[in-house]
Amino acid sequence: MISRIVTLTGNVLQPRNWEVRLGTPLCDLVALGQPKADTSKYLMGGPMMGFEIPDLAAPVIKATNCVIAGSPTLFPPSPPEMPCIRCGACAEVCPHELQPFELYWFARARNFGKTQEYHLFDCIECGCCSYVCPSHIPLVQYFRFAKSEIWSREREKQAAEAAKARFELRNARAEREQAEKAERLARASTARSSERKPASAVASAAVVEAGVSGALASEPAVASSAVDADAQKKATIVAAMERARAQRAAVQPRNTGQLSAQQQREIAAIEARRAALQAESPPDTVTPPERAAE
Ligand code: SF4
Ligand code: SF4
Repeated sequence: MISRIVTLTGNVLQPRNWEVRLGTPLCDLVALGQPKADTSKYLMGGPMMGFEIPDLAAPVIKATNCVIAGSPTLFPPSPPEMPCIRCGACAEVCPHELQPFELYWFARARNFGKTQEYHLFDCIECGCCSYVCPSHIPLVQYFRFAKSEIWSREREKQAAEAAKARFELRNARAEREQAEKAERLARASTARSSERKPASAVASAAVVEAGVSGALASEPAVASSAVDADAQKKATIVAAMERARAQRAAVQPRNTGQLSAQQQREIAAIEARRAALQAESPPDTVTPPERAAE
């Protein structure tokens, strides 16, 4: 489809149907109809359902069925909007048997849920209700406003749901990756421990064997070293006692300078006996000199 039939009518000298290529600027199309001097606006669509074209640089599209040149005579300004008197005229002319006055109230109160309950989206925006309304209420404009608000909220809701789904998917992916990583690490750790196990088992077995054999071999050594330590301890004690005795003997006053020859002979005999006794008795049972002298 590269062209379509477009009706050009209204405040023009040459009203007729034109076959127009899609994409043709509307200003070129309306120029073919020779608009009159008092033309004030252009509508796309019918006189009741059409909407004003804001800029004639817009192109002809697939939905462009009619262009109406308007003037203040053809489209006089709407009288001021008055309150709804609930006459029901709008409901009588509705081709879809809707309740336009109810839809109007709910749309005005921004109660969009109720407008949907009253089948707002069944409205084809024919404009009959607005046309017959004695209060000059632009009912179709209210219905369009309600529909656009519902669509906008629906888009926001879908965007929020999509964001929520993305968030949940992301969380699930993160958890799955974390679990997979933990599993990989656990598998690697198990593999490493199983690789290390034979070597460590051999090493530990060797250590155990070495420990057992070492323990068995070291028992006599430990026993002999204990005996040596006792003997060394005793020898040290005996040596210390000898040193102490020698010191005592060295510092002991003899008082033999003033003695007679007889007394010195007796002392010499006593010393000889003591020495003989010390030579006979074992080192650890040495008789104290004082006792021996007695
Ligand atoms: S025709 Fe207008 S005034 Fe009458 S009920 Fe409908 S909206 Fe209200
Ligand atoms: S504009 Fe909608 S509510 Fe009004 S008469 Fe047409 S279909 Fe019915």
